[in-house]
Amino acid sequence: MNIVGHLIGGKAVADAERVQNIYNPATGEATKQVALASSDTVQAAVAAAQAAFPAWRDTPPIKRARIMFRFKQLLEEHAEKICALITDEHGKVLNDAMGELQRGIENVEYACCAPELLKGEHSKNVGPAIDSWSEFQPLGVAAGITPFNFPCMVPLWMWPMAVVCGNTFVLKPSERDPSSTLYIAQLAMEAGLPPGVLNVVNGDKVAVDTLLADPRVQAVSFVGSTPIAEYIYATGCANGKRVQALGGAKNHAIVMPDADLDNAVSALMGAAYGSCGERCMAIPVVVAVGDAMGDDVVARLTAELAKMKVGPGTDNSNDMGPLVTREHFNKVKGYVDLGVEEGATLVVDGRGIKVPGHESGYFLGGCLFDNVTPQMKIYRDEIFGPVLSVVRVKSLQEAMDLIDAHEYGNGTCIFTRDGEAARYFTDNIKVGMVGVNVPLPVPVAYHSFGGWKRSLFGDLSAYGPDAVRFYTRRKTITQRWPSAGVREGTVFSFPSNR
Ligand code: NAD
Repeated sequence: MNIVGHLIGGKAVADAERVQNIYNPATGEATKQVALASSDTVQAAVAAAQAAFPAWRDTPPIKRARIMFRFKQLLEEHAEKICALITDEHGKVLNDAMGELQRGIENVEYACCAPELLKGEHSKNVGPAIDSWSEFQPLGVAAGITPFNFPCMVPLWMWPMAVVCGNTFVLKPSERDPSSTLYIAQLAMEAGLPPGVLNVVNGDKVAVDTLLADPRVQAVSFVGSTPIAEYIYATGCANGKRVQALGGAKNHAIVMPDADLDNAVSALMGAAYGSCGERCMAIPVVVAVGDAMGDDVVARLTAELAKMKVGPGTDNSNDMGPLVTREHFNKVKGYVDLGVEEGATLVVDGRGIKVPGHESGYFLGGCLFDNVTPQMKIYRDEIFGPVLSVVRVKSLQEAMDLIDAHEYGNGTCIFTRDGEAARYFTDNIKVGMVGVNVPLPVPVAYHSFGGWKRSLFGDLSAYGPDAVRFYTRRKTITQRWPSAGVREGTVFSFPSNR
């Protein structure tokens, strides 16, 4: 079986002593294996990144940006191959993979602005003949650890910005679907990224823990589930590293009594069931304000679910593909069983779905629960599957109190025609990314992405302007060239600058 290995110092490295199967989720077949790097291999990748750093740090930002321009072009030229790799291992529908790639490319486009982003700040005459300026210098070796659900986009949130800022990088992709991530790194080499500037090590906890312990790694960007994010943040910080760790989510959509229901229902269908609900910005909870709206939303969603097409992601006429692994399928199905036990009303049951010719695939149909309460585990936990829960409340304030009380604060949205309600909501809700009649308010590449509460550990969000701050450290220089007019004698008191 083909083994997906590592990319270190610009070269393919095998280290396949330990391996794990990669499955095609639409068929349930093991199609490849991924090498799980040893500690030594990870250290070799860090050493390659460390060795590449001095020359890369001194490479003019415009030259670093030019490589990103070429890289963007290669991503577009090879889009079909990238998306086929994503669909083979993740399962999402090809059109959706194309959307993921496009969002990734937008981050590369932003990284092309490196010379503009790194200009720094300058003040002339902060004192007599004294000038002061701040530079944003690279940190050295940075590491990225990424989840399975966006194998192309999330790595592209990280390393293009890190490297245009002058850092070198070691990336540890998800072991469940690593092929598109590795292929994209090879395209970056083809675009002219010097050997060692970007290294990819595939692996599991052994690789992650080696990166967290290595003193040469200055910064760690993580995206994944909250328990692991918290572990990465605590361990990385304890080891003196700068860490941003983005975690899980449970995003609520409020539907107000005055909402445009046609727009709301079609938006909710895509947001709840697109990519099988395996998105950190998915909407797994609808909060219906007023019983009449609750009845309408449930009836309309039920009708839409009857039309939703589930099947292999290679067929673009399908709306939803399979879940990523057998293990994840069992977990999500277990939550549907639990919801029934907990007393929620299972209005649409997707558990029995059959996809002809794909009987061993990890397919689960769309599931819809009504009368879900905040005490239920299916409400509190992140399920990360095609399971939508409807909670009924009496007022906007009650809906907002629910959202604020939840441990996660990644995304949320409101469907309404009332500008005052929308403004009150966006102003006061304790969530990092907020939509008004927009179900998935994922910030564009020139803003930054980050949740609040237990959806993000750290101070800076991912990509966009925050990435420049995360991957650089400020150095402020104050300079005077003594000259006859401004030469001072000894001064013992702090200068007042009056
Ligand atoms: P995960 O936490 O299982 O894995 C993420 C990464 O951590 C992988 O590279 C994995 O190899 C590594 N890892 C797993 N267990 C580890 C351990 N014990 N020690 C060290 N490293 C470990 O997440 P996943 O299942 O791949 O992805 C889904 C999760 O990611 C969901 O919770 C989703 O909400 C979250 N996510 C969040 C965002 C965001 O921006 N906030 C974006 C995408 C996904």
